Amino acid sequence: MTRELRLYDISVTVNRDTPEWPGDTAFSSDWSTTIAAGDSVNVSAMTSSAHVGTHADAPLHVHDGWPGSHELPLDAFCGRAMVVDVSDSDGEISLDVLAGRVPGDLQERVGRAQRLLLKTGHSIAVGRFPEKWPTLSEKCARALLGFGVRLLGVDCPSVDARDSRNLPVHHMLFSGNACLLENLDLRRVPPGDYELLAFPLKLMGMDAAPVRAVLRDI
Ligand SMILES: [Zn+2]
Repeated sequence: MTRELRLYDISVTVNRDTPEWPGDTAFSSDWSTTIAAGDSVNVSAMTSSAHVGTHADAPLHVHDGWPGSHELPLDAFCGRAMVVDVSDSDGEISLDVLAGRVPGDLQERVGRAQRLLLKTGHSIAVGRFPEKWPTLSEKCARALLGFGVRLLGVDCPSVDARDSRNLPVHHMLFSGNACLLENLDLRRVPPGDYELLAFPLKLMGMDAAPVRAVLRDI
């Protein structure tokens, strides 16, 4: 007997109401041709930041010469992933705080899942850009790399703080060859282990690429 595997769409809807990072290019779209106007097809065109909605950052985002969007490793974006609820955290998330949110041994769980998705409860999915959100401490990010993490995903707009200028968590994780997903919608996903599927669009040489992110029960 086969079991129906549940899919969770953890992508933010993209339209002109999708909140962009303050100062970034807002998403907009228009019709180039329409059937209503006598054209044979409806065709639209869009303008957007590469960081629109749910997306993968490329290392190029924080460092000239680092890999761009087309060089993101596909295998990091599919496979086992662990969702951890840190929504009661404020400010920096230490390794101890994270360990307190994960049943069992954190190193063993992260090493097995390799992909960690943090539910901070500060997502643009609610229709507005959050004022602030909790972030991993640099020490915690370094420890996670040591545990074998290959991808960090967050439901907030950045893995670093909103007012961060030097983006230490971006730098730390990219230096350790880990990948990043931002602006996930984890509101309906209970903490636990899943299979993640979230491939970045094959855009050449950009600093980020939108993804359609999905979790599947395992
Ligand atoms: Zn980004």
